[in-house]
Amino acid sequence: MHDPDCLFCKIVQGRIPSRKVHEDEEFFAFHDIRPAAPIHFLVVPKAHVASMAQVSDAHAPMLGRMMALAPRLAMQEGCNPYPEGGFRLMVNTGAEGGQEVHHLHLHVLGGPRPWARG
Ligand code: 5GP
Ligand code: ZN
Repeated sequence: MHDPDCLFCKIVQGRIPSRKVHEDEEFFAFHDIRPAAPIHFLVVPKAHVASMAQVSDAHAPMLGRMMALAPRLAMQEGCNPYPEGGFRLMVNTGAEGGQEVHHLHLHVLGGPRPWARG
């Protein structure tokens, strides 16, 4: 379930501190240490999956639940309502996809613009 060398597995287990946004049986969400927008947090499955490149049909229900959870957490964290507000969901995959941490994570970004990056 956990990779002992994985940064986000360590965060999920509380071995590295983070600012928690949400936790349930399946997911852990925490603020990004280097926010690119006024609101920027990450949602990760607790079970280690390296990236979207490793997902199979078996992961589809988990991915669906992760996508469905994100809007609820976005509102909880203060994103403004759609359509004037909203949020961005992003999953970087592999080096050319801009992925730095190899534990699948959904970026949730929002808040008033301009944003620091993007
Ligand atoms: P990636 O580039 O892999 O899509 O995104 C990794 C994200 O994790 C980056 O936005 C980076 O700021 C964030 N990050 C890296 N190390 C840590 C950490 O130790 N704690 C937290 N909270 N975020 C981290
Ligand atoms: Zn991991």
